[in-house]
Amino acid sequence: MLKNIFCLHPDELKKSMESLPGYRSKQLLHWLYDKHVFDPQLMSNLPAETRDELSDKLSFFLPQIDLKKTAKDGTTKYRLKLEDESIIEMVLIPDDKKNTLCVSSQVGCTRACNFCATGELGLKRNLQTHEIVAQIMLGSSFCQPNRLTNLVFMGMGEPMDNLDNVLKALSIIQADDTLSFSPRRTTISTCGITDGIIHLADSKIKTKLAVSLNSAIDEKRSKIMPVNEIYPLKELKQALKYYLTKSNFRVTFEYILIPGFNMGDDDISALRSFAGDLSCKLNFIPYNTVPSLPYRSPSEAEIETFLKKAHSLNQAVTLRRSRGAEIFGACGQLAGQR
Ligand code: SF4
Repeated sequence: MLKNIFCLHPDELKKSMESLPGYRSKQLLHWLYDKHVFDPQLMSNLPAETRDELSDKLSFFLPQIDLKKTAKDGTTKYRLKLEDESIIEMVLIPDDKKNTLCVSSQVGCTRACNFCATGELGLKRNLQTHEIVAQIMLGSSFCQPNRLTNLVFMGMGEPMDNLDNVLKALSIIQADDTLSFSPRRTTISTCGITDGIIHLADSKIKTKLAVSLNSAIDEKRSKIMPVNEIYPLKELKQALKYYLTKSNFRVTFEYILIPGFNMGDDDISALRSFAGDLSCKLNFIPYNTVPSLPYRSPSEAEIETFLKKAHSLNQAVTLRRSRGAEIFGACGQLAGQR
């Protein structure tokens, strides 16, 4: 099987195509990453023999759009078919001057958070580096003539369970000759895999980190996130403290608001003791209904009451209205089925 062009860092491309002089590889990268032309035969300033050699030696395969759904606010969910027919989803969220792409890192997920449709699928496989970069390139081309400004690993899968490929993909898109994508505008979201957090802290790749917290009480968190049994809150906090010694970015805690479960006074107190001494911000997200799951979305009054209490915490607090719920493209709803 041919190696896919999107798994190669520019330095590796130069090595794997020794017959390609430096300026030619720059031209190739310009076609791919600036002009979004993905067929070597259309790269008109490359000689015919170079185009043929590229087609012979490398694969330029991109996932196929299997289904596309756009919500009234412009949020678009793309269901993508990979080379082995596996299905993943990515979501493009336009917002004023920002275009945020939510990408997948795995086909399914093994972590089984019970508020999440992806978790119901189980894990089929990890995405390869080129399948992650390809999502970003497709998202980037769909934004044209505007730019893709933000990237979040909050689609299908747990990025820390496929961290090597995620970091390799970031090293490619952060390179000067590709998208030069800013670490400041990139977020990896984890359910709290502490080994991964430490590995990320020690890696050379810079990115923001979000942690899906949802409760700062071990018993409650374990109820909805089985991963908490393996990596309990104390261990998670230690890993985050270590990450913060190595990163210039604050950690974001994602907290899905589920009425009758994690919106009480005891939850606020637990948040205060868990996050009070961390450099972080708290992002509250009203739960989005998943038909097969037993939770409901909070009412506006419930959200308001909770936020009033949350504002007594020391940290920056935001309410994020998750976009794309009507197309099942919002947080926790990606399952490749609708
Ligand atoms: S929330 Fe993330 S980690 Fe949890 S099951 Fe869903 S995709 Fe996996």
